[in-house]
Amino acid sequence: MKEQTKILHSIPVDELTGAISTPIYQTSTFVQEAPGLHRGYDYSRTNNPTRATLEQLIATLEGGSSGFAFASGLAAIDAVVKLLNAGDEILAVDDIYGGAFRLFTHIYQKFGIRVNYTDTTNTEQVAKAITPKTKLIWIETPTNPTLKISDIRAIAAIAKTHNILLCVDNTFASPAAQKPLELGADIVVHSATKYLAGHSDVIAGLVVTKNDDLGAQIKFIQNASGAILGPFDSWLTIRGIETLSLRIVQHSNNAQAVAEFLQTQGLVRNVYYPGLRSHPNHAVAKQQQKYFGGIVSFDLQADQKATATQLVKATRYFQLAESLGGVKSLVCLPSEMTHKSIPAAIRHQSGVTDSLVRLSVGLEDPEDLIQDLERALRIAAGRSIPVRS
Ligand SMILES: *Cc1c(COP(=O)(O)O)cnc(C)c1O
Repeated sequence: MKEQTKILHSIPVDELTGAISTPIYQTSTFVQEAPGLHRGYDYSRTNNPTRATLEQLIATLEGGSSGFAFASGLAAIDAVVKLLNAGDEILAVDDIYGGAFRLFTHIYQKFGIRVNYTDTTNTEQVAKAITPKTKLIWIETPTNPTLKISDIRAIAAIAKTHNILLCVDNTFASPAAQKPLELGADIVVHSATKYLAGHSDVIAGLVVTKNDDLGAQIKFIQNASGAILGPFDSWLTIRGIETLSLRIVQHSNNAQAVAEFLQTQGLVRNVYYPGLRSHPNHAVAKQQQKYFGGIVSFDLQADQKATATQLVKATRYFQLAESLGGVKSLVCLPSEMTHKSIPAAIRHQSGVTDSLVRLSVGLEDPEDLIQDLERALRIAAGRSIPVRS
């Protein structure tokens, strides 16, 4: 069975009524015949049929043993960190998602979990940074917002020899483009808020484990800590996933066109997109990703922040907002928005310059998107706008 068929047909028809759309079981509890005698559901924190359909679906999509749905991507990340004990260490990608950095630093450090950051695009560096206390390697690939690529297969091999878990935040690629468990990772997490749900209408997180033992541990943590996804948000996420592979193909085609256009613009300094041959990790991306995804970043000549600010205010189809992965295109200035809390020196080191612009390329016609950027670049540069017929 091919991917898109698998997605649609691993969502079961409702046995009770034949409903083709997953019913929303908006209930907290389930009536029992005798104490402890029930139909597999007793309380919706522990298990809920709508959530269970989503959890089975994401496990199938990522090729894992089990899936778990959480109230947000960060709640999913939090559940994975709870596998560790005080004294353990995490080795993490250096330009990690800001929310994960905040969670690791400001919450888990005080419980005795240390995090070391390293450039995971350099596999040798990963091997060198491991200590006897490292219990978990945490990577994102591609990263946010400079789209750095780490070699999942090579890092999984290193993790295995040291008996360390490898967790991949697969939010940017989505399982339609990249399947980390097949490349050797142990755990995958998602902010389903982004491409999986895909319509900018829900906050959700997912965890998928490779084997039943890890699955049982996450299940215990999910029920014990309780940050579960509600039935309606589970339904919205299922509904989004139904069109995931179609969307990812179009997001990727549009992003490639936008990235190639930006490369021709005099005002633009660097363009970051793994689908460009000029991307330093293009070869690794090509090997492990089926599509290059919908995020494109670029910065401006002389790093002119004022010009970049003009630019992000001038676009019409790219609307100025945080987040990404929805059907409508978004633009953001990370130095003033998503990455503002990171000290400038550290930010600059990871390539997030003051004029860096991040695009979440949506599903509008690529010609309109390119015209929109062309016009905004002209306005930002203070040049006149040609009258269009
Ligand atoms: C958005 C995001 C998260 C956090 O997800 P929320 O759903 O906002 O909690 C984690 N990782 C990455 C890569 C993200 O982009």
